[in-house]
Amino acid sequence: MRYVTTRPFATLALALALGLACAQVDAPVSVEVAWPSNACAAEADGPERDPSSDWRPRLLDQVGPTPPAQLFMPVEGARVAEVYPSYGDPRSGGRVHIGIDIMAERGTPVRPAAPGYVLRTTDSARGGSSVTLVGDGGVRYFYTHFDALPEGLEAGRFVDLDTVIGYVGNTGNAAATAPHLHFEVHVPGQGEAWCGWTPVDPLPLLSDRQALGG
Ligand SMILES: [Zn+2]
Repeated sequence: MRYVTTRPFATLALALALGLACAQVDAPVSVEVAWPSNACAAEADGPERDPSSDWRPRLLDQVGPTPPAQLFMPVEGARVAEVYPSYGDPRSGGRVHIGIDIMAERGTPVRPAAPGYVLRTTDSARGGSSVTLVGDGGVRYFYTHFDALPEGLEAGRFVDLDTVIGYVGNTGNAAATAPHLHFEVHVPGQGEAWCGWTPVDPLPLLSDRQALGG
């Protein structure tokens, strides 16, 4: 059985501070954080910056102001202790792995690490079949390489910890690898809402559902 240590809380404290700074303007934010100024520029040309998508602000109104105290293992039957820590590892083309890979058999159900709303589902050559959720604190969760998505999973839908959001596969640039879930967690930018997100390592934030009685 795995127990949460103190280190994940330090990491989450930063995520909390960053999340509060953006998601709740009226919140008593007492922590000044050094924000990477290029974070906004990096997102400026990405799909998240589509100014015509008015559903994103509506979703933000629906989530709570405070990021979750803990995240849950999204892959059914997988154990946190068995996940290889690959956040930050180099990838082809000079890219960096900004998530973790959770190995599982093809078709294994995936459920949210935290409740939230479906921001969108996408299917791209590199990313494969993916689901992006936004949850409390404006934290964004990215799940990809799905073999299939469940019926009716579309933008705007609320998903709780028990909702199946996809089935493990190896679509996209994972086609040559064994089936796995690629999972990312991004905390929102501060200042002008939604100028960008910064990825954080999900692994120290994750808990096994069994260990918490969930
Ligand atoms: Zn990955």
